[in-house]
Amino acid sequence: MSKSKNTGGTATADLLADAVSWRHQLHQHPELAYREERTADFIAAQLAQFGLKVHRGLAGTGVVGTISRGSSRRSIGIRADMDALPIREESGVAHASSNSGVMHACGHDGHTAIALAAARVCASLPDLDGSVHFIFQPAEENEGGGRRMVEEGLFKLFPCDRVYALHNWPALPLGTCVARDGAMMAALGTFEIRIRGKGCHGAMPHEGTDAILTTAQLVSALQSIVSRNVDPQQPAVVSVTQIQAGDTWNVIPDECLIRGTTRWYDEQVGDAIEERISLLARSIAGGFGCSAEIQYQRRFPATVNDPPAAQFTREVARGLGLEVLDAQPSMGSEDFAYLLHAVPGCYLWLGAARPGENPGLHSPRYDFNDEALAAGIELWVALVRRSLAAA
Ligand SMILES: [Zn+2]
Ligand SMILES: [Zn+2]
Repeated sequence: MSKSKNTGGTATADLLADAVSWRHQLHQHPELAYREERTADFIAAQLAQFGLKVHRGLAGTGVVGTISRGSSRRSIGIRADMDALPIREESGVAHASSNSGVMHACGHDGHTAIALAAARVCASLPDLDGSVHFIFQPAEENEGGGRRMVEEGLFKLFPCDRVYALHNWPALPLGTCVARDGAMMAALGTFEIRIRGKGCHGAMPHEGTDAILTTAQLVSALQSIVSRNVDPQQPAVVSVTQIQAGDTWNVIPDECLIRGTTRWYDEQVGDAIEERISLLARSIAGGFGCSAEIQYQRRFPATVNDPPAAQFTREVARGLGLEVLDAQPSMGSEDFAYLLHAVPGCYLWLGAARPGENPGLHSPRYDFNDEALAAGIELWVALVRRSLAAA
């Protein structure tokens, strides 16, 4: 596959032009988790026009489009995420967000356009035997829309032998992909610690108990978890990302709020992180005369590929001329993990780097690279063809 505008194979110039246009429309009208109503309407209308059977309502705004052919019970799922992020766009592109403060900064507009284009091609294939379900999922960012779809019966309504998803990866060159056996993305936890002390005059600190000083000690101590409690061979992250306290110069506030995120692969490491955060918060707060209220949530499990599905994905990618690279797993997280817990499959990264300045995912200057559309479309179509080829 060429690294630029590929008009051979299934991604014809017409199809690519439509995919770019859909991607730009989606980018211009981004919607946050579980509010992807306009997006879902657009997807459902397109799928119906291509002749797919359309189901709506899983996890609220979820859409599933199905093509069934022949008599085989074989079936696969292709998942795309639809949600945007609460970021004020600074990309400066003509199709920039018209929804102020909301932005497709993770390229889910590209994933959706790729899946739509692949659905259109697959609907016109005469030689399939089995079913393919195109799964458009809400609320990937933080909120676990994938989990809700599975809990609400995604794979009971639409049984899949295997399920696949891709993420555009701006750190990888165009024309490349990564589909590892096993670990791809880390498990994700969040914590919120409320340190309660006793507020007082800033000039008379001995009359209160200082929640801010306690917080400062705790933030430092939390950094001992990865360095002192986790096996150095095991990946782990503990990051404090928010601290909120106080309103003015001369008042020591009553309380301080600390929030942050944790990542791991090994479940024992996940247990150790959770336990240590709680113990450090309670004991340091106690030592300084404060109390700590801790809320810890394990949000996403690790995203782990089924090795045969990953190998199949790599074979299909190589067959299209994509360069299959090796890479370390990411400490980012992905709620496709829940789909992979229910059904074996593969999550892959698709190269999407731009020449020159190449802002990363979640940057206010990020815009999905349309040059990556062709590779994504051809990969999904080839996976469907190979999985459901008529005997
Ligand atoms: Zn993201
Ligand atoms: Zn994403």
